[in-house]
Amino acid sequence: MKYLSTRGSEKDLTFKDILFSGLASDGGLYVPEKWPQINYNELKKIDNYSELALEIIYPFIGEDIKRTELKDLIDNAYDKFSKNEIVTFKGLKQREHIVELFNGPTLAFKDFAMQLIVPIFDYYLSQENKKLNLIVATSGDTGSAAINAVNQSSKINVFCLFPKGRISSFQKKQMTTTHGENIFPIEVDGTFDDCQNIVKSILVDRDFSEEFSIAAVNSINWSRVMIQIVYYFYTLIKNNISENETINFSVPTGNFGDIYAGYVGIKMGLPVNKLIIATNENDILDRFINSGTYSIESVTKTTSPSMDIAIASNFERLLFDLCKKSTSLTSEKMNDLKNNKFFSVSSEQSDLVKKIFSSKMINQNEVSDLIKETYNQFNYIIDPHTAIGLGASRLLNEIDQNNFILGTAHPIKFSDTVEKAIGHSMQPSSDFNEMFKNEEKFYSFKNSVEEVRNIIKDNYSK
Ligand SMILES: *Cc1c(COP(=O)(O)O)cnc(C)c1O
Repeated sequence: MKYLSTRGSEKDLTFKDILFSGLASDGGLYVPEKWPQINYNELKKIDNYSELALEIIYPFIGEDIKRTELKDLIDNAYDKFSKNEIVTFKGLKQREHIVELFNGPTLAFKDFAMQLIVPIFDYYLSQENKKLNLIVATSGDTGSAAINAVNQSSKINVFCLFPKGRISSFQKKQMTTTHGENIFPIEVDGTFDDCQNIVKSILVDRDFSEEFSIAAVNSINWSRVMIQIVYYFYTLIKNNISENETINFSVPTGNFGDIYAGYVGIKMGLPVNKLIIATNENDILDRFINSGTYSIESVTKTTSPSMDIAIASNFERLLFDLCKKSTSLTSEKMNDLKNNKFFSVSSEQSDLVKKIFSSKMINQNEVSDLIKETYNQFNYIIDPHTAIGLGASRLLNEIDQNNFILGTAHPIKFSDTVEKAIGHSMQPSSDFNEMFKNEEKFYSFKNSVEEVRNIIKDNYSK
């Protein structure tokens, strides 16, 4: 498979190229030249998660890694998930299913990608006897997943930027209590978008990022999207969904990475009616679906902090398709966004979006009510992000169709909010005893790129 930048300056790149550089030098995102095609009826015969992952991921990697070697990497990655089944399902109302994506070591769906990407990096690094420095901006869950995965690597250091006072205390402990010598948690006095901008400015400085062997594993890294496609197929296969059934996925959305993976699935042959963009008050995508205008507003702090994001970075990949893969049109729109803080699409483009996507915004009060109701009615505790997915799917009101709601995190990660809603306290599993005992160690920086550059210079892995 070959890859190109959505803004046109780079093309004919291999999977390895784009894995390591993360963001194109023109600021664009990498996308594959074409969508591998899958015959769903054939694929349906495979109901083992790792085997399915191999079928879906291999075509995106191609010659770069041998199929048998990729199989080993995948098997090892998903061995670390706690349940026998990597993805589990919980039925609520009729035709309403929660897809539990929080059985990995850090209890959010981010583990699916991180537990596999880090070993893939290690695989390439050991071939060339090299070391790597990962830089991550996180709204909470990506950072904990990256730190857990990198903690097991001897070739990689990770510098993880999180926004001060805007992540849950569980998430913060996950990032700051490992005390690994290769782990550098950094609190930034700003928002997630500020952290993301620091990462972007370090990445586009090619001299710096090459000198210090830097790569990024943000949601803009293509490999994360690619890995997340798998559970969309798995969900339908495990639930015996036939090709001509009408089903919907509701996806709690921030950076548009997870739901975009579902979109890629559809392009490959996943039989889905609608992808529902479920947002919190940071509703840039919901406003876009309703108005055709994508416009940046300041970020609001909510009880679903992993989605407190002003700009949905992966949206540029969908925009590229809406521009019929024209890199110049995509660049134009993204420049408008940079200069004017908004752009609009044509009604034709808007209709294309609405064929596949619906959207709903769910506010904090509704989140609290949904957590409480679900607990009272089904004796089942959902986290605030999953609650947004559930609320959006109910508002869409396609009750005669199967609705799959992505359960993106375990409720214990957001226990403050969840405990208030259900009216009693929650007990974390004993797996986290050590985390609660250990002291929190982290750096605390202003919102500036300089301090981050300095800490990398002083501590990079070489
Ligand atoms: C990251 C995250 C999301 C949002 O996913 P995107 O890919 O950024 O849209 C939703 N819920 C939880 C719990 C998350 O960690």
